[in-house]
Amino acid sequence: MGRLVMKFGGTSVANIDRIRNVARHVKREVDAGHDVAVVVSAMAGKTNELVDWCGDASPMHDAREYDAVVASGEQVTSGLLAIVLQGMGIQARSWQGWQIPIKTSDAHASARILDIDGTEIVNRFKDRKEVAVIAGFQGINPQTNRITTLGRGGSDTSAVAIAAAVRADRCDIYTDVDGVYTTDPRVVPKARRLDKIAFEDMLELASLGAKVLQVRSVELGMVHNIPVFVRSSFDKPEDIDSHGTPPGTLICSEEEIMMESHVVTGIAFSKDEAQISLRQIEDKPGVAAAIFGPLADANINVDMIVQNVSEDGKTTDLTFTVPASDYNRARETITAAKSKIGYARLDSATDVSKVSVIGSGMRSHAGVAAKAFKALSERNINIRAITTSEIKFSVLIDAAYTELAVRTLHTLYGLDQA
Ligand code: ADP
Ligand code: ASP
Ligand code: MG
Repeated sequence: MGRLVMKFGGTSVANIDRIRNVARHVKREVDAGHDVAVVVSAMAGKTNELVDWCGDASPMHDAREYDAVVASGEQVTSGLLAIVLQGMGIQARSWQGWQIPIKTSDAHASARILDIDGTEIVNRFKDRKEVAVIAGFQGINPQTNRITTLGRGGSDTSAVAIAAAVRADRCDIYTDVDGVYTTDPRVVPKARRLDKIAFEDMLELASLGAKVLQVRSVELGMVHNIPVFVRSSFDKPEDIDSHGTPPGTLICSEEEIMMESHVVTGIAFSKDEAQISLRQIEDKPGVAAAIFGPLADANINVDMIVQNVSEDGKTTDLTFTVPASDYNRARETITAAKSKIGYARLDSATDVSKVSVIGSGMRSHAGVAAKAFKALSERNINIRAITTSEIKFSVLIDAAYTELAVRTLHTLYGLDQA
C-alpha cells in the first residue's frame, strides 16, 4: 500500500468519456489499496480559449483578472471527475487551489508555489479513504487573497508539489504519449522511449522546448527527490496490473540510472525564439551593459549571445535571442536606448528556431558538438548562433529547417529506434 499522485493532462480529460476513463484509472489504484490525490488540467483547448478571451476583452488586461479567468478550466474538470468517481462508489471531493491552500507568489500568470498544507488531504486519506481531486495550474497568493496561475503547463508542477506535500511515494504524470522520448515522437517517428532519465537531463529537455513536462515540475521533483513517472492515459485501465511495471519513463536521480552507452540523451527544439542583430556597434567597454541592462530591467530573458571580434578595433556586430513573445518589447527597448548603445542598424528575424542536443554524458566526451556542425552543414543548414554548456549545446537555425535538423541529429547520435 502506498500513496500516489496521479496527474492527467488536457487531452486525457478532454470530454466526459475521457474523464470516465480517468476515473477508471483512479479506481484501479484505489482498489489496489493506495491513497490517491489526482491533479487535473483543463479540458484540451480550454485554457487557450480562456487566454484568447482575455486578449479579446482587452489587449492590456489586468494579470490578476487574467488568472481569475484562466484558472476556471481546472475548476470544471476537478468537479466533473469528483462527480464521476462518486458515481462509481468512490469517496472523492474536489479541491481548488485556494481551498487547500496552495500558496504562491503574486507573480500572476507565472506564480511560484511557496507552500502547500497537505494536512487535511492526508487526514481524509486516513479517516475515510477519500480521493482528493485537485485543480492543477492554480493557487492563491496569501497576501492579496487573489487566485494565481503557475504558467502554461503548470498542472505538472501542481502535481509534483502536491506529491511533496503529502509525501507521496510517486507522482504519475498521465499524458497523451507513453513516456519521455529521445525527442518529440510527433516530429520524429523514430524517436525512442526512454525507460529512465536523470532529473538533470529532463530539466534541460524541458527548458529547451520539450513540453512533456513543465520545467518547474522537474526542479521540484529533483529538490524533493520524488520519482516522477510519465505514462499514457490511453492505456486501458483494466489491462494494467497495479503492481506491475507499465510502459513509461521514470525521472529519477542520476545514480539510479545504469550508465547508458549513449552520450546524448535527447534533442529538444523551440520555435518560440526571435533573433536581434545590432550592426556596427562600437567595440568599447560598457557596450554590452548598455544593451543587456535595459533588457534585464524590462524583464526580458536573453538567451543566446554572439559577439564578433572587430576587425578594425572600432565596430563589431552583436546577435542575441529573446523569447518570441518578448520580441516587440525587446526591439522597442533597444531602439529607445540607441543613442546610449550606438549602433548603425538593427536587423531581426522571427522565423528562427533553436535546436538543442542534451546529454549528461557530454561532460566526459569531447567533440560531440563538432560532429553536429558538420552534419548540419552537409544538409546545407546554416547556423546563426551557437551556445554550449556542460551537458548541452544549442544551435539557432532557420525555422523551416527545424524538423530536418532534429532528424539529422537524432540519427547522427544513434538515437533512432532499431
Ligand atoms: P498534457 O496535456 O498531458 O500536459 P502536453 O501536450 O503538455 O500534455 O505534453 C505532451 C506532449 O509533449 C506530447 O504529445 C508530445 O508531442 C510533446 N513532447 C515534446 N517532446 C517530447 C518528448 N521528448 N517526449 C515525449 N513527448 C514530447
Ligand atoms: N491548463 C493549463 C495549460 O493549458 C495547465 C496545464 O494543462 O498544465 O497550460
Ligand atoms: Mg502539459
